[in-house]
Amino acid sequence: MNEQRSNNNKKNYVIFALICVGLVILFNAVLLPAVKKAQIKETNYSFFLKQLEAGTITQAEIKDDTIVFEVEDDGDSQLYSTVKIEDPDLVNRLHDNGQIDFTGKIEHENPIVSFLFAWVLPIVLMIVLWNVLMRGMSKRMGNSMAFGKSNAKIYVKAQTGKTFSDVAGQDEAKEALEEIVDFLHNPDKYAEIGANLPKGALLVGPPGTGKTLLAQAVAGEANVPFFSISGSEFVEMFVGMGAAKVRDLFKQANEKAPCIVFIDEIDTIGKKRDGQLGGNDEREQTLNQLLTEMDGFDGKKGVVILAATNRPESLDPALLRPGRFDRRIPAELPDLAGRESILKVHAVKIKTEPDIDFNAIARATAGASGAELANIVNEAALRAVRNGRQTVTQSDLEESVEVVIAGYQRKNAVISQKEKEIIAYHEIGHALVAAKQKDSAPVHKITIIPRTSGALGYTMQVDEGEKFLLTKEEALARIATLTGGRSAEELIFGTYTTGASNDIEKATKLARAMVTRYGMSNGFDMVALETVTNQYLGGDASLACSPETASKIDEEVNSIVHSSHEKAKKLLSDNLDKLHELAKYLLDKETITGEEFMDILNKDPSPAAV
Ligand code: ADP
Ligand code: MG
Ligand code: ZN
Repeated sequence: MNEQRSNNNKKNYVIFALICVGLVILFNAVLLPAVKKAQIKETNYSFFLKQLEAGTITQAEIKDDTIVFEVEDDGDSQLYSTVKIEDPDLVNRLHDNGQIDFTGKIEHENPIVSFLFAWVLPIVLMIVLWNVLMRGMSKRMGNSMAFGKSNAKIYVKAQTGKTFSDVAGQDEAKEALEEIVDFLHNPDKYAEIGANLPKGALLVGPPGTGKTLLAQAVAGEANVPFFSISGSEFVEMFVGMGAAKVRDLFKQANEKAPCIVFIDEIDTIGKKRDGQLGGNDEREQTLNQLLTEMDGFDGKKGVVILAATNRPESLDPALLRPGRFDRRIPAELPDLAGRESILKVHAVKIKTEPDIDFNAIARATAGASGAELANIVNEAALRAVRNGRQTVTQSDLEESVEVVIAGYQRKNAVISQKEKEIIAYHEIGHALVAAKQKDSAPVHKITIIPRTSGALGYTMQVDEGEKFLLTKEEALARIATLTGGRSAEELIFGTYTTGASNDIEKATKLARAMVTRYGMSNGFDMVALETVTNQYLGGDASLACSPETASKIDEEVNSIVHSSHEKAKKLLSDNLDKLHELAKYLLDKETITGEEFMDILNKDPSPAAV
């Protein structure tokens, strides 16, 4: 590996030396004579003769067509040059004037100074210029000018400062990683029984679930050198450099064994090689090198490779075969208990009131990742500071959940009374439909304060416990709830607004999944009509059926949404007086809790309304 690197270096030095020599020659041939010329005054032949007669010339150099002579005047000497005129007496005249040294070449400069000017100065200038250029370039191109030097950072225990206690939840992942840490601590225990530990483990999961954090915690626990590099750092300006970096990384790791090598975002280099024209050659070379290196080293030596990705399906199958990344460690989105403990881990770092109900916050954040929960805790602390408080309260946390879900409150948004009314009826429509169906989650909060995300109001529903399955009834109830907002607008104002676009999107997505993936429609049996392509990043799906089936799917989706919409409208028109009462109340208060909502809904109709 060093061969290639030093070859590269040699080439660069040769080029540098050539440029230097060229410039020095240029300097001597063009610049110096020009400088010299400036020191010599041009004059005419009669001036020369006059000075000769006056006896002030001390030296003269006779060239083919010019005469250069030195005139001394009051101690100053000045060089002159004149055109040589055909003058047979010249030599005699010079000879008569005994003091003139007319055969010698005039030494009109200090030899040391001229040497410095001609040779040293240009080289010094070149070196300065080279350094400035290199610095500018390496700034622009990151470390790629380091010519194949790996910039894997070595982490040791004190540096990451993270241990398994910083990672909440993720018990399965921690257990799998603990085994690796144990192997690095006592390799003999495993060698005695003849067990080989996996060479590589791949951490997979959605963004923000703590994959990088887990790897750092392993470094903290393992007490061995920890090399960390991100996949994108292998992708270089110069072809071949990525592969050189891989070689370098593994060489370093082998020297430091036992140790851990962590490659974050491995999908940047580990994508499937598709062999298509115009494919990324550089990436494929890097990947090939990685595969070779993984096969090349001795598993018993104690080099363990960890990698993290949120796109495992895009990885090259060769990476995943036994002997390479043969162990897969999932880092899933946290469940209710996981969310609660993540909130607690992060709340330790901030000052909170003693009686915070983390379970309530965890219930309100179904589907949030560890990174989002960490963000929620931090937002709560920021809010406390903004309000001039010393500690974080429950309401700080509750408000910051909404900030993370829907953005900040837009306090100065100007919304007309008419529009506010529509929004209030819309939100109560959602809440009322939810409350009147037995299969939907309880209403937690309703608000019509607009948010920076563009939401003009929203209804928050929070399940009591953790749900892992969704029944067909619950799915239908959810779609009906989503259509509740538009249904209320239709019933009360007899018109349609754009406010329901987000509801429509969500309802369609769910209804579509019911038909194509969950087998919950009337027209199709348990047939997979769509396959999920990007499990951890949004879960996009692509159709896998004939065009005729596709149009049938569209019909099914439409009929599911349509019947749910009808059901919502019926529920609302049956409870029209409650709809009016609740909407007026919300319009007045702007934000109401689930309890306030249920109180009004459950109290006996007031005499006036009967
Ligand atoms: P990714 O899976 O995308 O690599 P990170 O490991 O970078 O996610 O997580 C980002 C941040 O989220 C972490 O620095 C940490 O603060 C927080 N976090 C994520 N998961 C957890 C967890 N299980 N316990 C505690 N904090 C977590
Ligand atoms: Mg990461
Ligand atoms: Zn809505």
